[in-house]
Amino acid sequence: MTTFLATWREPGKTAVETAWSERLKGGDLKTCLEMGLAACELDPAFLAIGLGALPNAEGEIELDASIMDGADLSAGAVCSVQNIVPVISVARKVMEETPHVMLAGEQAKRFAISKGFEPRNLMTPESIKWLDEWKAGNAPYKYVHVTDDHIHGDTVTMIGLEEPGHLVAASSTSGIAWKVPGRVGDSPIIGAGIYADDEVGAAGATGLGEELWKACASFRTVECMRRGMTPQEACEDTIRHMLRRQSHSTEHACVVFAMNKEGAYGAATTDGVFHLWICQDGAITVEEFTGLTA
Ligand code: ASP
Repeated sequence: MTTFLATWREPGKTAVETAWSERLKGGDLKTCLEMGLAACELDPAFLAIGLGALPNAEGEIELDASIMDGADLSAGAVCSVQNIVPVISVARKVMEETPHVMLAGEQAKRFAISKGFEPRNLMTPESIKWLDEWKAGNAPYKYVHVTDDHIHGDTVTMIGLEEPGHLVAASSTSGIAWKVPGRVGDSPIIGAGIYADDEVGAAGATGLGEELWKACASFRTVECMRRGMTPQEACEDTIRHMLRRQSHSTEHACVVFAMNKEGAYGAATTDGVFHLWICQDGAITVEEFTGLTA
């Protein structure tokens, strides 16, 4: 059995469907997750990832991405990258073609160009419109998931499991809308936004990156599973710890989700309603998780 998990109601479906169609073509787990995230990055309808994302406070789209292979704990990431998509593919190249884990900013962009990526303008008429509204003081939300009825989180974090017992985790995001230029959240940070270890399982995060990072949310959740918790118990333990220790963690949803090497999964959030997409050998479902209390 192959299982894919992906975050948030709108982009998560695209992510798991694309990952599964790559699987049917014989793609390995890393390629399936890379393709799933790349499809979301290239769709301008999703506002917190890739092309057409909401920009920083100076009107620039800055992208973060990461990937980790549970087989040998190898990992690659990029942060604050402008004018390049899909950045998840650049993160994979950092993992596979350099001795490093993360490249940042202008130098990460130069690395991508050296690997054949073409720089392009990522702002779309829609993201320019949102920027103008934000400058005029009319943007309806600060964080992408603080929603009205129509706009939901679009950061995509994925976990893939190939039985028996091999896991990969990956994430891609434009981070928080209107951020201070250069701000980096949890998503490209190994241990915060993603973590995978074939000995145990994998975990991913989405939501308010500052808080998720301070909690080392993904690593912490995997370590809870290592000590014997189910994925659901592990996610709840991390979220309850955040609720108890981090007073800002309810200002905006902080989500962790996890899967163990046997294929059991779970999720928890500090606030609001979170949708997790699940694809088990092509059978696709979505589950809803509501905010916990400490
Ligand atoms: N965690 C991301 C960040 O803080 C945002 C998100 O997941 O929506 O950059």
